This record gives sequence, C-alpha cells and structure tokens, in this order.
Amino acid sequence: MIVSPVFAGKRYAILGLARSGMAVLESLHASGAELLAWDNREELRNSVSDKALIADPLESDLTGYDAIVVSPGVPLNNHPIAQKAKADGVPIIGDIELFAQARSALPAHRVVGITGTNGKSTTTALVHHILQHAGLPSVMGGNIGVPILSQEPLPEGGVYVLELSSYQIDLTNSLDCDVALLLNISPDHLDRYDSFDSYAASKARLFDMLGSDHAAIFASGDEKTQLALHGLRDLGRVKNIFDTSNVEVAGQPDWPSLQGPHNFQNAIAAIATVEALGIGEEQWRPALAAFAGLPHRMERIAEANGVLFVNDSKATNPASTGPALGAYPKIHWILGGLPKSDRLTECEPFYRNVVRAYTIGEAGPLFEKLLTGHVAVESCEMILTAVQRAAANAQPGEVVLLSPACASFDQFRDFEARGNCFRSAVNSVIEKNLIGTATGEAIG
Ligand code: ADP
Repeated sequence: MIVSPVFAGKRYAILGLARSGMAVLESLHASGAELLAWDNREELRNSVSDKALIADPLESDLTGYDAIVVSPGVPLNNHPIAQKAKADGVPIIGDIELFAQARSALPAHRVVGITGTNGKSTTTALVHHILQHAGLPSVMGGNIGVPILSQEPLPEGGVYVLELSSYQIDLTNSLDCDVALLLNISPDHLDRYDSFDSYAASKARLFDMLGSDHAAIFASGDEKTQLALHGLRDLGRVKNIFDTSNVEVAGQPDWPSLQGPHNFQNAIAAIATVEALGIGEEQWRPALAAFAGLPHRMERIAEANGVLFVNDSKATNPASTGPALGAYPKIHWILGGLPKSDRLTECEPFYRNVVRAYTIGEAGPLFEKLLTGHVAVESCEMILTAVQRAAANAQPGEVVLLSPACASFDQFRDFEARGNCFRSAVNSVIEKNLIGTATGEAIG
C-alpha cells in the first residue's frame, strides 16, 4: 500500500467505502491521518469503525478538515456533498489526487495518465504490458479496477500507469503526468454532465495539470479530442504534444489481440506513450505481438467449424461497437441491451460487414427499426437465442460477434456477466454441434 508522511496529522472525511474508498481509508490511516468515514451500507461502516469516526459528512461540521475524499461514483452534479463542502470551506478530492500528493515521498518514478471515452482499459493494460516486457517496474491503477493507493510503491525508476475516468479527473487538481494520453471523446455519461462540452472539458483538464516539459498525446481525429489538442497547442505552454490520429506504422502489424481500427488507435497511442518514456521499437514491437488483450474486449473466445466467436461485451456505446464491426468482413452481429442513445450513427459506416444482426434486450425493437432496410435483422430478445441463430447461420470464415452498443443492466448485473453468458451460450452451441446448421431459406 502507498502511504505518505504528507498525510500525517491531517483530517479527512471519506464518503463512499467501496474499493477505492477503502484503499483511501487504509492508506490515510496508515499514514497517520485523522478520519471520518461514511457509506450508506452499514456493514461497510462497521468494518472500519476502529480506524475512523463513523459519521455522515452531510451532518457533521467539517470546518478545518483538509479535504472530503469522495469515490468517483458519487454524482457531484446533484449530490448535496458539493454544497456542504462549499459551506464548510473544504475541498472535494478523490484517491488520484491523494496519490498525486503522496508522490513527493515516493522513490523517483514516472506517471502515465490515460483517459478517453473508449479504450482506456485496453490501452492502460497494453502500456503496462510493454513496460513490463521492457523490464521496467510498473503497476496499473485507477479506473482499471485496482485502486492506486492499494498498490505497493515501485522501486526507483518505476512507472505508475493510471486509467482515469472523467469522474476521477474531476476530483484531481495536481496530477502532473509525465505522459498524459487522451484517446478519444464521444457522447457518454451525459447524466453526470450539463452537456457534451462539459464532459469533454472534464477530460481536457488532465492537460491543465501537465508540466511544461512533459508529454501530451492525442489519439483520435474526433472533434472534441482535436479541440483539446488545439487548445493546448494554442496555449504554447506544453512543449511535447503529439497527434497520433493519422500515424501509420511501417511493416505489417502483428497484433492478434488488437483487432479493429479502434485497437489500432490504442496500439499507436500506446507506442507513442512508451516512446515518450524512452522505449524503442525493438522493445515495443515484440511486446505488442505478445499482448493477450483483456476479457470482454474483442476477446476471441472460440473457433469451431471455421467460425470465430468474439466477445466484445464491454462495447456499451455505438462509438465502441462501430470499430468492432470494422474488424472483420463477415459478421453475425449480436446487439442490444439498455440503449444509451436512439441512434447507431458510429456503426453505420460498417454495416457492409454485417451478414445479419440479432437483437437482444430492451433496445431490440428500436434497433430492428434502425437496421431494417440496411441489414438483415432478427429479433432474439435473449443472448442464448441470438447465439443459437447466429451460429446456425454462420459459414466458415465468418464471425459471430457480441458487441452490444448498449449498457447491460436491463438483463445482467454488468458487462462481465453479459460476456460470461455469451461464452456459455457459445460453448453450448459448439458442444451441440449447431454451427452452420440453418437451411439456406433461414438466411434468406
Ligand atoms: P474503457 O476502459 O474506456 O471502457 P475498454 O478498453 O474497456 O475501454 O474498451 C471498451 C470497449 O470499447 C470495448 O468494446 C472495446 O472493443 C472498445 N474500444 C476499445 N478501444 C476503443 C477505441 N479506441 N475507440 C472506440 N472503441 C474502443
């Protein structure tokens, strides 16, 4: 765990005791801070009563506290803690800001910060993988699911690779990354922001914190990413600014786990990131080839009778599904769930790759309407039905792809449960030998 003398004797209120909140509590406690903690769940409150005063920060006098530390899940746009913090004159921060403050007491190290609407986890894991391959000590943390404060401090020369959501950036004021990477920006999470502009502005704040001799990388040609890039260029403050949106690589890329134009974007951005850290092509090229990818992101789960089954359950918006459809020429596409928008705009350029679509979940009727006239479509409602029909229709050389373009919460606990359900359904059609069994008529 990362601890720091800078927290000793200070007073913090912690709101939210899930994974990152718990790591904050442990780290601040071990650092000698005085704590007040709260979570709506009683069992979580009880589990820390020996380390913190248990009290609701909304009902406590927080005057004189050094900060209120909230988890990124707390919606600051409409949660009363924002008003309360103002009234008591206390800043609201998150665990990434505490990490930033703890850095001064850590052995000499560097930090990579990765944000964007899509591809953060893949790129974070990839950068970490290349660094490890090159023999540099590194750890991942942040939105990737491992609170950074719970990681062991790295020895001198180490690199902390942080995946940062916009919520985490909102709670951070002083994280000066050695390399800051913005992958892309498309509309998402608009329930937490006044507008698409303010969501984009939140991501761009990562660069406001950047020291002038550090590196900024922008990976996409989308409007908001380019606006952030030009904004930073116009300021003239940061010297090393890279736009990788049009970069090509010499030689044939050999990256089996990084299929599709989106993963090309991620790979190029990861290469620029590690090159900014001094890693050469002879190190990154073999590392990219050996990268295994992450579960539920363009994950190749089985190949049977010449048909490949790919699990891209993490594609929860049309902007992440579009490039998945660009990855293969003949796709049986399973889509649907809880829709985030009433359009499939980013998917449209890739309809030519879709042999047939199979809709599931709440978005089913909407998507059928949107697809009719462009793509053959069947209403399936459930994943198992969709996999059975897709497998029956699929011919050798074709791909059955789950890339839902929707959240999962209408039918599943989360995208992982949805991906696991897809995997079981695939295993069952393979076991029962149901691939390619449809008659010509059914394909129509
Ligand atoms: P995040 O952590 O930002 O949600 P992930 O790496 O988990 O990103 O990928 C989420 C989904 O987005 C996956 O379905 C993946 O295939 C897709 N994706 C990955 N990289 C990109 C990208 N650069 N642009 C668009 N979609 C992407």
